Amino acid sequence: MPPTSTEGPRASRFPTAADAGRVGAVLTVDLAAIVANWRLLRDRSAPAECAAVVKADAYGLGVEQVAPALAEAGCRVFFVATLDEGVALRWVLEQWRQGAVEPDTASPAPPAIFVLGGLPPGSETELPRHGLIPVLNSLGDLETWSLLAQLLGMRLPAALHVDTGMSRLGLPADELDRLANDPDRLEGVNLALVMSHLACADEPAHELNQRQLEAFTAARARLPATPASLANSAGIFLGAAFHFQLVRPGVALYGVAPIAGEPNPMQGVVRLDARILQVREIDTGGTVGYGATHRARGRERIATVSVGYADGYLRSLSGRASAVIGGYRVPLVGRVSMDLTTFDVTGVPEELARPGATLQLLGPEHPVDALAEEAGTIGYEILTSLGARYARAYLPADR
Ligand SMILES: *Cc1c(COP(=O)(O)O)cnc(C)c1O
Repeated sequence: MPPTSTEGPRASRFPTAADAGRVGAVLTVDLAAIVANWRLLRDRSAPAECAAVVKADAYGLGVEQVAPALAEAGCRVFFVATLDEGVALRWVLEQWRQGAVEPDTASPAPPAIFVLGGLPPGSETELPRHGLIPVLNSLGDLETWSLLAQLLGMRLPAALHVDTGMSRLGLPADELDRLANDPDRLEGVNLALVMSHLACADEPAHELNQRQLEAFTAARARLPATPASLANSAGIFLGAAFHFQLVRPGVALYGVAPIAGEPNPMQGVVRLDARILQVREIDTGGTVGYGATHRARGRERIATVSVGYADGYLRSLSGRASAVIGGYRVPLVGRVSMDLTTFDVTGVPEELARPGATLQLLGPEHPVDALAEEAGTIGYEILTSLGARYARAYLPADR
């Protein structure tokens, strides 16, 4: 795909809406829906502050577009996973700040960016250089950060992650003991946040939620008074006791149901329309696709669309997914292949299901959670797998 624009360092990463005719599918991202979702979560969490987790390129939807829309709506705290994501986000937010105001008025203050993955060995000094705040995950991280602060002769901000049940990142109990007994380890460090992460927030009745809340409250009491954060998207819906001073939603911003199986209070954000390349009729006994896994039981009309597993349309959807065309729901038949997928459009009027028409693979009539269910996965994986070949169209936040 030739780059169609030279704006920004990564503007040519994906085809844009202008390329829609040359690509197999158009991915539409509704920035206004993301902003509406952030406001809903903010209002539910008040008086706690509402951050936005934009790791993994804003869950696959494009941090360059998503972060400025959220900043414009008033979001002032962002979380990413890695140093590189933080550097890219700082650049994006600086562009936003410079464009956000009339000449001669003050720019908004730079939003805070926390890097969840902790200190990258050998590249620690890049964090202060780009105005990034590390989430320290161990006493080792803390020691490195404290030494760097003393070396630079300045206080350095940090968040401290304590493990309360994920056993993934964060200070384990014995390290928390050692820190509580020797607070000098924090020398030179401005603790901006104490945080932990919930393992089962999407299952409100799970006993681990309460246990983690208690462990987190106890851990906080042993550390200097610091703003605290525990809740991800689902955690916000566990109630005010889980909100503390800052909440960290990710997936709900992007329209995925925070609590699986419950009515989804979030607005849908993505839509994926795939172009039909060909339609053919097959007779009883005719087979479709690799492995001939679908065999026609009568006369069938098969539409082939230009999307496959190379686009993140997962192969596990083979024979299981559905799509929508002109209000008709059509089943995926046969296997998903690399660039192509086949749907049975027998029941759809011919003037609708024709080459050049589009099939809705994701959207209001087939939300991310429904496709995730068909694939045997979760909405997070559907979003972060969305492919690089789709033309991307962004509906502006302020329309
Ligand atoms: C990814 C992540 C979040 C956001 O989680 P969602 O379930 O997407 O809301 C919050 N906190 C941490 C530590 C994370 O890694």
